Amino acid sequence: MPDFDTDVLVVGTGPAGSAAALALATYGVRVHMVSKWNWLANTPRAHITNQRTVEVLRDLGVEDEAAKYATPWELMGDTLFATSLAGDEVARVRTWGTGDDRVGDYTVGSPCGLLDIPQLYMEPVLFKNAAERGATFSFNTEYLSHVQDESGLTATLRERLTGREYTIRAQYLIGADGARSTVADEIGLKIEGEMARAATAYVLFKADLSRYVGHRPSILHWIMTPSANFGEIGMGLLRAIRPWDTWIAGWGYNMADGEPSFDTEMVTAKVRALVGDPDLDIEIQSTSTWQVNQACAATYSVGRAFCAGDAVHRHPPSSGLGSNTSIQDSFNLAWKLAYVVKGFADPALLESYSSERQPVGEQIVARANQSRVDYGPLNACFRTEGEADPVAAGLAKLRDPGPAGVAVREALAKAVELKNFEFNAQGVELNQRYSSDAVVPDPAAGTEEFARDPQLYLQATTRPGAKLPHAWLVDERGIRVSTLDVTGKGQFSLLTGLGGRAWEKAVAALDLPFLSAIVVGTKGVEDPYCAWQKVRETHEAGAVLVRPDGYVAWRQTAAVWDEHEALNQLQAALSSVLGVDLDETPKRGSADTATIFEEQGVELEHATVH
Ligand SMILES: Cc1cc2nc3c(=O)[nH]c(=O)nc-3n(C[C@H](O)[C@H](O)[C@H](O)COP(=O)(O)OP(=O)(O)OC[C@H]3O[C@@H](n4cnc5c(N)ncnc54)[C@H](O)[C@@H]3O)c2cc1C
Repeated sequence: MPDFDTDVLVVGTGPAGSAAALALATYGVRVHMVSKWNWLANTPRAHITNQRTVEVLRDLGVEDEAAKYATPWELMGDTLFATSLAGDEVARVRTWGTGDDRVGDYTVGSPCGLLDIPQLYMEPVLFKNAAERGATFSFNTEYLSHVQDESGLTATLRERLTGREYTIRAQYLIGADGARSTVADEIGLKIEGEMARAATAYVLFKADLSRYVGHRPSILHWIMTPSANFGEIGMGLLRAIRPWDTWIAGWGYNMADGEPSFDTEMVTAKVRALVGDPDLDIEIQSTSTWQVNQACAATYSVGRAFCAGDAVHRHPPSSGLGSNTSIQDSFNLAWKLAYVVKGFADPALLESYSSERQPVGEQIVARANQSRVDYGPLNACFRTEGEADPVAAGLAKLRDPGPAGVAVREALAKAVELKNFEFNAQGVELNQRYSSDAVVPDPAAGTEEFARDPQLYLQATTRPGAKLPHAWLVDERGIRVSTLDVTGKGQFSLLTGLGGRAWEKAVAALDLPFLSAIVVGTKGVEDPYCAWQKVRETHEAGAVLVRPDGYVAWRQTAAVWDEHEALNQLQAALSSVLGVDLDETPKRGSADTATIFEEQGVELEHATVH
């Protein structure tokens, strides 16, 4: 085996890079992170942490720590559309699944709620835990280039403090280096779409606004006011960073006019207008601009180099999908790299990363941009263009007791409904269906029909390629644990029922260090709510093979009672996913596997969020 300085070199310590390092270190892979800056994110950036990402944090054992820094779910979602925070309220939307009509879908769909964590708190949680689990790192270190060869790659790095250039040997490279990715450029990933199609100005400020929001808590409010009405959203934004004394004020600006002025007097006046308090004391902390992109890479990898996060998908913050998708990219990639590095899988498995995550990237780029366009119908209800004060004229029409007003109010209800695709899109967040060589299709399943809108509603299923459905089981202490808690953690799990003893024996016969049988109905994993029985879509003596990232790799819906048949089927499925002959794979307890996952000491989290 050639000598490597590290197994995986990760460029970037943002959500994608830190999450990749955390997962790899947890799985016992040597990983080295580099970032060209001297520390992690220093501004709030991404906040919305959706259920799937919280599930990933839970699997990696850092959910509780992340929650400490978050605005809790129940304070996230009473989003206003108003003339100012103190002014006329035109509409309110229950967002992020907090509404009475949606909260059940969210709690049924996942053991985790949403969290609102500013990126400057999220990154340290990921990064620090990665380092504690053995990941190494170099700040002030710029990645310059790499050369791949048959056994690995040599990357050239530059220490920015001294200018010294040096090389490092690794087996694989992850380019998690953000929207201006050097790695994506270098390996020639084709980024398709449009960059900088609009722009937004942001002001981070401190002011106690609790008197305006305490009775209708929400992390996001939209303000219709003449001083912040440019662009396709056409409204200013007030975004809580820390409830309720640290905020971002934002508004669109015309790029054709150059960079906007952040003159203190002008900014103060704008913030006061958004809040609707002419005497408000504010402390401006920083100002910035960002541009709206709509672009995605056609593929995510070339040879030994893989890109993740904003390096491959670039889109606006609407729908809150950026850091979520970045973390989830890395979670998809990390176990595959771990299995290849440990010799459990053929390197061909790594090709499934791009096949599985690229369609997700394309989908979320389109969704985030469409969420901006979807403000059009709302604006049409609030504003009457051509009038001296379009908002005042629009609101007068909206309040008109006559038939014209009735029509606008009906249009408003529809326009508000459309915003569910931005703010209550549980399906966008949880309904991914992977199709790749790392999934064995179920020939009997046919084409999936969605019972409800696939963007709005999660459809839980054990179809191969879908995320394992969440169902509450009960452990030996009588405490509720999710199906997600008893699977994952770097392992493949074969879920079966009490009737599935043939499968349990098949798993024992294979004796693989990364495969466990979870026999639901036995001590520790009982199903007293009959919850798993309702969602498993298989006979009790059938089986569902779950990958380390919580996605279904394969299933047998029919009962199998014969141990040999179960063994043959399981062996065929696993060999197909991993691309190896399992007879050649090291067995549990052998010297080669002594440092594998179970020794990483990551405890199952039994805490429930809701
Ligand atoms: C205003 C705003 C609000 C947002 N709100 C949300 C939200 O609510 N929810 C959400 O999910 N997303 C949101 N996002 C998006 C989110 O911030 C990004 O999607 C996320 O940061 C992408 O993570 P990343 O790890 O891919 O890249 P980045 O966070 O950009 O990290 C890139 C890393 O690469 C390093 N790097 C770059 N080049 C090199 C090099 N050559 N050598 C060494 N290191 C290098 C950098 O130092 C950095 O560590 C928002 C973004 C913005 C701008």
